[in-house]
Amino acid sequence: MISCPLCNRAVEHLHKRSHLVPEWMYTDCYNENHKVIEVSRSEERVTKKQKGVYSSFICDSCEKDTQKYDHYASLILTNRSSGSDEFKSIERTYPKKNNVDDNFEFCLWENIDFKKFQNFIFSVILRTHLAGRIKGSIQLNQEHLNRILSIYRDNTIIDDSSYPILLMEYHKNDKMRDHVILPFVKKLKGHHIVEFTGGGYAFNVYISSHSKPQHIKTFRLKKEGSLLVLNIFFQQTALGKKSIEVISTLEKSKG
Ligand SMILES: [Zn+2]
Repeated sequence: MISCPLCNRAVEHLHKRSHLVPEWMYTDCYNENHKVIEVSRSEERVTKKQKGVYSSFICDSCEKDTQKYDHYASLILTNRSSGSDEFKSIERTYPKKNNVDDNFEFCLWENIDFKKFQNFIFSVILRTHLAGRIKGSIQLNQEHLNRILSIYRDNTIIDDSSYPILLMEYHKNDKMRDHVILPFVKKLKGHHIVEFTGGGYAFNVYISSHSKPQHIKTFRLKKEGSLLVLNIFFQQTALGKKSIEVISTLEKSKG
């Protein structure tokens, strides 16, 4: 028997082929190396097969759970099933202008199933971590890993503040929309952030023990089911610049 690192249960074997980032976050074609998957939509004609990065690191039952969360996220984040109850359940108030900068738009989402959506984002990070594939200056340390795991595992823990989640939607004309990036760690203004992108979104989770900046508290996914989705040209932001630096460094090391 072996122990599944995600649920801690003793199992006979691990699921053979678990994905790191769910398939719906890729477009139809892809170009992958070990760190970054770059998706070119212009090549969609080549194949209908969707592939990603797979590995074996969680049990069958955890795989099933994570697929539930993935499915929920795909329904609310994309309009592929715009007739689904999940898609229709989200109230989107759009656009809202930020009074500091008129180019900076955001959209208020309400009625999100907080726990499902949080678990979706945590599961992408946990899977990548457990597969040994989180890249960046740090790995998740044991203390944070254990706390995230305990929130993930326990449906009665409703915690939106220890590891706040920010969601950014790429502008329709943003080239960054075509990238799927596996979770990696970056540091911004003293905070460690795990970021991943796909499906036209960038997901940020703040990993630190100290108090988070006010704008994070304002924009984060809240336990009441609301979230302020930033709608931006990603490269214009400090976060985006940092990400692009990382991506171009990784791309240079490809060959
Ligand atoms: Zn498990």
